[in-house]
Amino acid sequence: MTDYGILVDYRWCSGCRACEIACQMEQGLPPQRSGVKVFEAGPWQIAGERWQHDYAPDFLDECDLCAKRTSRGKLPSCVQHCQAEILEFGRIEELSARMSGKKKQILIIP
Ligand code: SF4
Ligand code: SF4
Repeated sequence: MTDYGILVDYRWCSGCRACEIACQMEQGLPPQRSGVKVFEAGPWQIAGERWQHDYAPDFLDECDLCAKRTSRGKLPSCVQHCQAEILEFGRIEELSARMSGKKKQILIIP
């Protein structure tokens, strides 16, 4: 699975944490453990109408890119359950090409 990763378009991450729950259920992990964890930055006012407030998922050592699911042609559980559709699973070179010129994107290669 080293050719594959997950592209995160975190501009639209709502912080709902459905990805964390989906991972815990898929991997049979207790509540304090997951392959993905959502972090929050802000809110604080930068200047005038500008505010800093972002959520962004980070992928942790327990993530195996849902090897059992993806080997059967299914999407990773977190990708499947992200209702904002900001997680995209695919080949690293294809995901990397999609990042060009866009802000607030993270390419995860667990
Ligand atoms: S790809 Fe699978 S193992 Fe990795 S964080 Fe998502 S649900 Fe968890
Ligand atoms: S499920 Fe999607 S929108 Fe919700 S916290 Fe995770 S990445 Fe963000």
